Amino acid sequence: MSKPSLYNAIRDHDFSETTCFLCGSAVENNMKSREHVFPKWLLHHFGLWDKPMTLLNGTRLAYRQLVIPCCQTCNNECLSNIEQEVQERFIAGAAEVASMDRGRLLVWVLKIFYGLLYRELFLSLDRREPGAGNIVSAEDMEQFQLLHLILQSCRVPMQFSIMESDIPASLFVFEVQEPANADLRFDYKDDIANRTMYLRLGGVGILAAFDMGAQTFAGTSFFSRYQGHPLHPVQFGELGANLFMKARVFNRTPKVLIGESPQGVNFSVLSMAGLSSTPVFGTWEAEDMAEMLMFFLGYSLEEVMPVEGRNTTWLENSDGNLRFISMDTLPWITPTEACL
Ligand SMILES: [Zn+2]
Repeated sequence: MSKPSLYNAIRDHDFSETTCFLCGSAVENNMKSREHVFPKWLLHHFGLWDKPMTLLNGTRLAYRQLVIPCCQTCNNECLSNIEQEVQERFIAGAAEVASMDRGRLLVWVLKIFYGLLYRELFLSLDRREPGAGNIVSAEDMEQFQLLHLILQSCRVPMQFSIMESDIPASLFVFEVQEPANADLRFDYKDDIANRTMYLRLGGVGILAAFDMGAQTFAGTSFFSRYQGHPLHPVQFGELGANLFMKARVFNRTPKVLIGESPQGVNFSVLSMAGLSSTPVFGTWEAEDMAEMLMFFLGYSLEEVMPVEGRNTTWLENSDGNLRFISMDTLPWITPTEACL
């Protein structure tokens, strides 16, 4: 059997319904050769199978229709193994998910982020006119290309060498309280341009920035305080807003060196601090954070910024101690819930 090699899907612009999204081999155009972007067990667990999701271009698809072309080998030898581990750990709780091998958990979350991108964007790119009407910049495509290489760490042996992190992403797992209302137990948000995602799965909250590990250090010092405590979904939403804002003020385009050796692929990220004299992360205005909090929590401007220039926090009491918010009390009345 020949050694699997890296597939440069994005550089070669090979997106089609009959090309495996991961390794590039030819597949039939049928359901046997399809991978669910959000795994089937997850859709069943949260009652999402027939629920609609709105794509970037405005079309609505049921979650079960969110599939991407995938060959049997990638499915059986690579993805399903990770899928099974995540499912088992998910059932056992947030602490089990948090103690999973981070490289494997990264592949799991990245497949969802990249899979959505693939479904929403890449399959509709017109390869006959590569320059026409592209809504993605060349620089974004270059970063997406790197994400696709990272995803292939499940099929090709790959070593990561990064000064800022152990994996080429910033990934954090939280314990979240589960709402009694089953319709409120699942929440997904992403920011394609800044490559971040927020996933609330019942009692498990996952935040990821696909930034080559840039937020790992700063994020660990900020988020660790809130990990291992049963957060209210509003508190987890506030943490999500924080990660998304940080990614927005990230002042670097990470540079990566790829080397192939008989042992596999060496994926090295150049030190980010040294690339420029400006700080790696800028600061944000309270008004911008207010908008982000409104997006995450569904609250009004008065609730997220009661005083000009200052944002509300749900994370701490006025004495600075970690705040516990019971699921039975406010503020868990979101506009979504109010109209149910
Ligand atoms: Zn494949």
